[in-house]
Amino acid sequence: MSLQITGLTKKYGSQTALHNISLTIGKNEIIGLLGPNGAGKSTLMKSITGVLNIEDGAIVFNGLNVAEHETESKKNIGFLPENNPLYTEMYVKEYLTFVGNLHKISAQRVDEVIELVGITPEKGKKIAQLSKGYKQRVGLAQAILHSPDLLILDEPTNGLDPNQILEIRNVIKEIGKEKTVILSTHIMQEVEALCTRVVLIHQGNILQDSPVDEFRGKFESLEEAFAHYTTAHSDTSEAAN
Ligand code: ADP
Repeated sequence: MSLQITGLTKKYGSQTALHNISLTIGKNEIIGLLGPNGAGKSTLMKSITGVLNIEDGAIVFNGLNVAEHETESKKNIGFLPENNPLYTEMYVKEYLTFVGNLHKISAQRVDEVIELVGITPEKGKKIAQLSKGYKQRVGLAQAILHSPDLLILDEPTNGLDPNQILEIRNVIKEIGKEKTVILSTHIMQEVEALCTRVVLIHQGNILQDSPVDEFRGKFESLEEAFAHYTTAHSDTSEAAN
């Protein structure tokens, strides 16, 4: 698996959300995509999955340009979008079987994934009846059902309680042993616990791209490093204005 992003620019009307981003990601990495709200993380994730059309640049996944080979690329990418959109009137197993049918995967695989994400006792329930943590697991299940090489998770633990966070993290860690994962998060403990590499985005630019230890560098903590890079950058641009 490989992902090469070169010169990616994405605009919303007159606003440029991503400026000329380049990034190469190899196999078996868990990448923490960091950045303040509005930095461009979700836009980058949606661009990689082919959900958004990009203005400039190229995203090449496993040798195929995503924009030109959207369906083929999506077969090998799993995506858990921000706020985990689900068909809440469906039952858990019914929903995952529906998603499985779209990917033409076996009923056995649906059961395997239900077991893997720990929702076997919930599989007969309506999604609307589930706690937020279990809904998140259903979202994760739909993202990994087709065994994609690349898994993209937009704030996968947002809004969960501490126990649920640990449980979802363990699932992601297991998946990360075999697959490449890009996840966005504001929780630095999550980066410490899961990620091998940090990509820090600010105002649509990549400010840092390094192994977690290198990102922490001379700072006491990842939070301090994050604050330094993001506020130092804002100060500079404010001074420039
Ligand atoms: P993040 O995920 O880092 O919080 P986003 O990628 O959601 O950042 O947003 C980056 C910028 O693009 C923000 O200024 C946001 O307001 C803007 N943006 C995101 N989605 C849209 C959209 N559909 N239409 C217009 N502007 C958008």
